[in-house]
Amino acid sequence: MALPELPDVDRLARRLQSSDYKQWRSMVEATGGCAHPVRLSGHWMLTDKTTGTVLTKPDGTPAMKSGHLFAPCGNRRESVCPACSDRYAADAFHLVRAGMSGGSKGVPVTVADKPRLFVTLTAPSFGPVHNRRTSANGKVVPCRCGRYHHEHDPAIGQPIDAGAYDYTGHVLWQAHAGKLWNRFTIYLRRHIARAAGITEKELKEHARLSYAKVAEFQRRGIIHFHAMIRLDGPDGAADAAPPWATADLLTNAIHAAHTATGVEAPEINRNKRLLSWGEQIDVRPIRAADARLVEDDQGTITDDRLASYVAKYATKGTSKSEAADRPVRSREHIDLLEVSEHHKKIMRTAWDLGGLEELDSLNLRRWCHMLAFRGHFLSKSQRYSTTFKRLRGDRQTWRFEQNLDEIGVTADSVAVINHWEMTSVGHRNPEEQELALAIADRQRAARKHRYANERKD
Ligand SMILES: [Zn+2]
Ligand SMILES: [Zn+2]
Repeated sequence: MALPELPDVDRLARRLQSSDYKQWRSMVEATGGCAHPVRLSGHWMLTDKTTGTVLTKPDGTPAMKSGHLFAPCGNRRESVCPACSDRYAADAFHLVRAGMSGGSKGVPVTVADKPRLFVTLTAPSFGPVHNRRTSANGKVVPCRCGRYHHEHDPAIGQPIDAGAYDYTGHVLWQAHAGKLWNRFTIYLRRHIARAAGITEKELKEHARLSYAKVAEFQRRGIIHFHAMIRLDGPDGAADAAPPWATADLLTNAIHAAHTATGVEAPEINRNKRLLSWGEQIDVRPIRAADARLVEDDQGTITDDRLASYVAKYATKGTSKSEAADRPVRSREHIDLLEVSEHHKKIMRTAWDLGGLEELDSLNLRRWCHMLAFRGHFLSKSQRYSTTFKRLRGDRQTWRFEQNLDEIGVTADSVAVINHWEMTSVGHRNPEEQELALAIADRQRAARKHRYANERKD
C-alpha cells in the first residue's frame, strides 16, 4: 500500500506566501476546514428585486462574484472529515439538548415541566464477548474468560468463542434495528393510552410522544439506542402535557413496550426468527431541579442545565462507526479493511446473506460496511425540537445577512442569483489538506470556547 505523501515544510511555506492564499483560506474557512470540499465554479450576484439591476458594494464595485467556491463534504465520520463530523456532532448535540431543556432553537423552556426520560435500549446477546465488567459496588470483576481487560484492550467486544457466535442473528438484528425502534414507538403509544384509560386513537387528542434517538455502535459491533423521550400535549413542545402524564406512567409504558416489541425476520431455509430488544434497558427520569449533581443516589439526572451532559453523552458516538467508511465492493474487499476479525466476520455474514433472494429487501450488501445497520444515526419525531436542516439554514441565513449588511440592504428587497457547477472534490495537494485540517482545529477550539460560555447565564 502506498503511503500518503507527507507535506514538506518548504512547500507549505510557499503555499502560505502565495498571492491567492488569503482568498483560498477564506474559502476553506467557510467550509469549517472541510477535508474533502466539493469545488464549485460559477457565479452569484445580488440584484434589486424590482429593477433587476446588480447592487453595488460600498466601494462601488458590483455585488457579484464569479470564480470558485467550496462546499463542505458533510460526512459524519471523523475518519473521513474531522471538520464536518465535528459539526454534525455539534448539531446533534444542540438538537437533542434543545428538546430536553428548551430555551433555544424555538423550543420553550416549559418542556422541562413535562415527563422526560433518558432511555437506553440495547441489542440481545449473540454470544459472550470479552468485556471489562464492574460489580454493583463498582469493583472490577474478571471477564468471563478469567482475565481482567484494560479498557483499551482490543480484545474487548470480540467473542470469547467465535465459532459459537451467532453471526446470522447479529446481522439480522442489526438490519432490523430501525424497524424495532418503530415498532417500539407504536407499542409505547399503545401502553401510554392504556395507562391513561383511553384508546390509541383518542391519545392523539390528549398527548403526543416526542423523542430523539441516537444510534451508537458498541465494541461488539452492534448498535444500541439512546433516546430522549418526552410526553407533550397534542401540539408538541409548546403544549402542556395532560395531568395524567407523569414520569412514572411513561416509565411503566416504556418497560411494557420494551418487552412487547418483536419483529419477525424474513425466513431463511424455513427458519423463523423473532427479533427483540436485549434485556438490558436503562430508563432515567430527567427532572427540573437545581441540584448540582449529574446524578443523585437513585440515578436520577437532576440538574436541568445538565441536559447538556445527557445530550453530550447521547451524541458522543455520532462520529465513530466501528465499521468501514465506504461501501464494500466485494467479499475479498473485506479482507483488506482495517477492522477487527470479529467485524470482518459480521461483514462477511452480511455479504453472504445479502446474496439470498429471501433477504433482498434488506439490501445487506449495500450496508455491509455498516455491519448491516441501515438506519439513521440520529432521528427524531416531528415535534421534538429543531432539525438539521433548520440548523444549517440558520447558519446560511446568518452568513447571507452579513453580506447584505455590508451593502446596506435588507433580505426582502434583493434577489440572489446563484449559478454553480461542481468541478472536483477534495484539496489539490497534501499541503492544502494539512492547512485545511489546521483551520478545522482552530475553529473547533473557538467553538468549544463559545459553547462553554453559552449557557452560563
Ligand atoms: Zn467535510
Ligand atoms: Zn475476556
